[in-house]
Amino acid sequence: MLEANLADRQVVQYVIRRFGIHAKHKLGQNFLIRPDVVAAIAEAAELGEHVPVMEIGAGIGTLTQALAETGADVTAFELDRSLERVLSHTLEHYKNIHIIYEDVLKADLKTILGDDKDWRCAANLPYYITTPILLSLIQSDLPISLFVFMMQKEVADRILAKPGSKDYGALTIAVNFDCTAERVLDIPPSAFIPRPQVTSTVLKIRRREKSAVEVKDRKLFFSLVKMGFGQRRKVFTNAMKSGGIPADWIPEILEKADIDGKRRGETFSMEEYARLADAWYDKIHE
Ligand code: SAM
Repeated sequence: MLEANLADRQVVQYVIRRFGIHAKHKLGQNFLIRPDVVAAIAEAAELGEHVPVMEIGAGIGTLTQALAETGADVTAFELDRSLERVLSHTLEHYKNIHIIYEDVLKADLKTILGDDKDWRCAANLPYYITTPILLSLIQSDLPISLFVFMMQKEVADRILAKPGSKDYGALTIAVNFDCTAERVLDIPPSAFIPRPQVTSTVLKIRRREKSAVEVKDRKLFFSLVKMGFGQRRKVFTNAMKSGGIPADWIPEILEKADIDGKRRGETFSMEEYARLADAWYDKIHE
């Protein structure tokens, strides 16, 4: 196995046969078989000798190998312990790979990553928990400055959406508040074994030095976003009422923020949500 590029149809088929692997759908196990795709992910992650990179879901090691080939120090998480006998074989010659057999959502990442290095994070994310993993990492204060994630194209389109479009939503704002996001490439189902049902997209998500808009209280900002997208059909005045803002405060908040309350929350930019959040904050604290 030493010389083989793991992200290759024949090699993956061989590994699957040799180890009698039955890909677990409920764990989102779809293994990459395109060398150009794993190389593109590794390149987008801006790796180099001893750059620390965390991978989520090593699988049989296809992407892990590409990350390690850059000379980076790879710490990979894999929930499925039964893959240990596979990974200890496919990646046995790499001294710069450390695999942790744990649920990444439960792992003590603060301790594992420490606080004296600037980490990257790369993954072909398990589709069933893409959003929880993504949000828990970008909203954490972990020392990760760059994420390169493969996800369903549908989710990527929501992250990249513009205000007023059908894909624009709370997820768009949650990611873009703390990060910038750009599309690296779209990948068809034929790039995996087994084939997923959907097209995938690799996004490069970079943490911002400071949030995209400044707000006096982040919690109020995200409460308003929730109101705006929770009931997309409602005009914003009604969404604010349902969200528990006292009815007699609403005209004043809207006026101060210079927002027409007959608009729907799904049309507001982040700046407009920020103005509303600050006007609400001022009302609370007057
Ligand atoms: N990196 C491999 C590749 O690209 O070919 C496998 C990617 S596969 C889409 C996702 C991997 O994540 C699976 O191996 C799955 O077992 C693992 N996984 C699923 N949930 C996980 C979790 N909560 N923590 C860590 N790994 C997880």
